[in-house]
Formats: sequence, structure tokens, C-alpha cells
Amino acid sequence: MRLPLARRPVHAAPDADTPVIEFRGVGLTYPGPPPVEALRPCDLTVRRGEFLTMVGPSGSGKSTFLNVAGLLDTPTSGRYLLDGIDTGRLPDHARTALRGRRIGFVFQAFHLLPHRSALENVTLAMLYTSVPRAERLTRAREALRQVGLGHRADALPGRLSGGERQRVAIARALVGRPSLLLCDEPTGNLDSANAGSVLSLLDRLHTAGMTVMVITHDSEVAARGRRTVAVRDGALSEQVTS
Ligand code: ADP
Repeated sequence: MRLPLARRPVHAAPDADTPVIEFRGVGLTYPGPPPVEALRPCDLTVRRGEFLTMVGPSGSGKSTFLNVAGLLDTPTSGRYLLDGIDTGRLPDHARTALRGRRIGFVFQAFHLLPHRSALENVTLAMLYTSVPRAERLTRAREALRQVGLGHRADALPGRLSGGERQRVAIARALVGRPSLLLCDEPTGNLDSANAGSVLSLLDRLHTAGMTVMVITHDSEVAARGRRTVAVRDGALSEQVTS
């Protein structure tokens, strides 16, 4: 039996044809004064397995979008369905649980613990889950292999290149098996060679079926997406590529 969307439990696995992200008239106005319409009411559907980039200049509303899509902030208008779950109807603790379970975040700064190995950094992401310790280690090793760093599991972050550090951060985001990899300027701290290796990895993850969303001000990075949405003055518009 199919439950109505809003009644579907937070832990239920999504159907393959249920969009990962569905914005219906979602907007966010900061109250001010003066009020700032940082994200104008918009519709956006991201299907499972898509590689979507969002591009816009500074101040255009990218972080606001990321905060709403990542369940870090609540929209002031519209409905946001994540994996078919109507997030606006959830109490705070359920939103937090949903975020932890369904979204893997990758940020510009890698946020790795410097005195912990790559393996420990990835394993720690599962600390507050019910996954048993032995299974956590197995999954963390698997995630590191997925990002091409199986052989560097014992290395401290300081012994890794910037690109490798970001790949550890991506392994940490993947280890909880999220529905969505939400990346905020993932190459912003990297030189072009390392940026290229991280973007190739995101491309491989997409090819393997992961839903990837990259938010960036850099049009070259944005061009790596299969689909690009531009944001300007808080308004989203789909970029049509030939
Ligand atoms: P971007 O990430 O593209 O640089 P932001 O989403 O941070 O853009 O900002 C979009 C707009 O919202 C900007 O005009 C910014 O000044 C404004 N803004 C961001 N955060 C707040 C806030 N907490 N209160 C009021 N205005 C804000």
C-alpha cells in the first residue's frame, strides 16, 4: 500500500521514480527589516540519479537554496518534498534525522579532523547511528575505495593533497548511503588539477547512480553538470544546453 506522502515514515526507502528534491513554490524571505527575498518562490524537481549544477554570482541566493534544500533552514513559502516526504510537516527532530539519513554534504573547506586518519574521519560520520562498529569500519573502507583512496585509509589529512582530502570528505558524505550528495563549492579550495580529479569523481559517482548537486559561482564547474540551473537575484532559471 502506498502511504500519502506526508504520512510516509522518515526511514522508508524511496521509490526509484520519486524525485529526490521537489520544490513546489518554495521561497525564503529573511524578515529584516528590511525583508530580503533571498529565494523567490520556485518549482524545481531533481530526479534520482541526476547530476545537477546550480550557478550564480555572489549574493544571488545559492547559500539560501543550499540551506533550504539541505534542511538547514525552513522556507517561508511553498512545500519541499525530499524523497517524497513533505518536510514542512516534520517536527525539528524528524527534520534533523531526515537530513542525517538522506543528505551527504560536501563543503569547500573539507572539515576533516586533523589528528584522525582518513578511515577514522569517515567512520566517525556513523558515530550516532545504529550501525555496529565492525560494520562501520567495513562501510568506511568501502567508501574510501569508492573515492579511489582505499590505499590511503591510514593517512592523516595533513599527509594528503587537497584533492585527496576532499575525496575523504566525499567518502564521509557517502558512507551513510544518502539519497543526495549536496556539494557547496567542492573545488573552491583546490588547484585546477585537484579540482579536475574531484569533478571526475563526482561524475563517476553520478554514473554509478548517485544523485549529485553542485552549487558553485564557477561556470566551468557548472558546465560539468548534465543539467544546470542559474540563480540570479533569488530567481532560478533552467539553462538549456544543446
Ligand atoms: P550566495 O550564496 O549566492 O552568495 P546568499 O544566499 O548568501 O547568496 O544571499 C542571498 C541574498 O540574501 C543576499 O542579498 C544576502 O545579502 C541576503 N541574506 C543572506 N543571508 C541573510 C540573512 N540571514 N538575513 C538577511 N539577508 C540575508
